[in-house]
Amino acid sequence: MQPFDPPQRVLLGPGPSDVAPSVLRALSAPTLGHLDPQTFEMMRVIAERLRTIFETQNPCTLAVSGTGTSGMETTLVNLIEPGDRVLVAVHGYFGARLAEIAQRVGGDVTVVEQEWGKPSDPAKLRAAAAGRKFKVLAAVHAETSTGVRQELEPLAALAAELGALFVVDAVTSLGCAPIGVDRARIDAIYSCSQKGLSCTSGLAPVSFSPRALEAVAKRKTKPSSFYLDLALLERYWHGDHLYHHTACSNLFAALAEATRLVVAEGLEARYARHVRLSNALVAGLEALGLELLIPASERLHQLLAVKIPAGVDDVKVRKALLDEYGLEIGGGLGVLKGKVWRIGVMGSGATPRNVLLAVSALGTVLEANGFRTRSKATDAAGAAGAALAVR
Ligand SMILES: *Cc1c(COP(=O)(O)O)cnc(C)c1O
Repeated sequence: MQPFDPPQRVLLGPGPSDVAPSVLRALSAPTLGHLDPQTFEMMRVIAERLRTIFETQNPCTLAVSGTGTSGMETTLVNLIEPGDRVLVAVHGYFGARLAEIAQRVGGDVTVVEQEWGKPSDPAKLRAAAAGRKFKVLAAVHAETSTGVRQELEPLAALAAELGALFVVDAVTSLGCAPIGVDRARIDAIYSCSQKGLSCTSGLAPVSFSPRALEAVAKRKTKPSSFYLDLALLERYWHGDHLYHHTACSNLFAALAEATRLVVAEGLEARYARHVRLSNALVAGLEALGLELLIPASERLHQLLAVKIPAGVDDVKVRKALLDEYGLEIGGGLGVLKGKVWRIGVMGSGATPRNVLLAVSALGTVLEANGFRTRSKATDAAGAAGAALAVR
């Protein structure tokens, strides 16, 4: 029997992003028990670094065993009791998932839908609230299905008006764009390990404000999930370390290294790198004659939705990129399936080499598929290179 030997890829989709070699090495360090003092030390260090990256003083900051969706479920299952009023801003696939989970945990959910491709409008949300008080206001900061950035400040102000806890999805922003949890008055936030932090998937960083913790403590009913019960997780992480589940020390070692890389680079420098590389990629894509779905003022840097030109076969192009160049980009989700490609410029994957590869490989594949690019693939790569020089 042959061992399975995964090929080397360049991951420029909506996640997972490229994992740094030192993170992969950390992942293969010896396994420790989930109650080993060295495991607790790694958890302490991870929590400290996550506070730095979230820009929060919240003592309750930890990483849930699971992917981004487990972070989403952790915030909602702990903050919402059956019958609680929840206002959800939906302007894409992941906002819709937030609403679905809020409903599943028994919330009395008011969904305010915005057309995909635009951020949610605080005025529409205020109107839908109709003067009522809410337990939770939830929104997605970086909507990965469309590439739209949501301004958090106006929503934090609305949450305050409604007496609501402000819950934010930062799955595609942590580690690649500023969030500022305390500055933005966020009460509960969740993310993942495999996008901006460039670790493998498997852990979901979360952080809860003291106000959110008070609300959890005042619950009349226990959260319906044992696995995601915040009080139990908090006790395992920051209390007497009582056994709750067999957390994976290898993932902790990897996240400790991934967060070390973020803090060592410096938040400002890291965000500036994402902006510069994203702008260079945009210059290259536009030189090819491709259009972006979202106008620059509302666009994420770390995730670009590119319109698939008429007559071009979505799946064929992505297959050629993967087979011939080892390059992964994402297809569209929901109503944008077949209409856009999603290219991630995230974490360790956000490098000049990857940007030049993406432009020249996509240009070459498009030419081979009968699309008349505006500039030749090589010239478009040159345009991206010239943009890289702009700091
Ligand atoms: C990826 C993503 C999720 C889901 O994360 P998983 O790690 O796939 O569970 C949730 N919200 C947003 C905005 C995402 O981009």
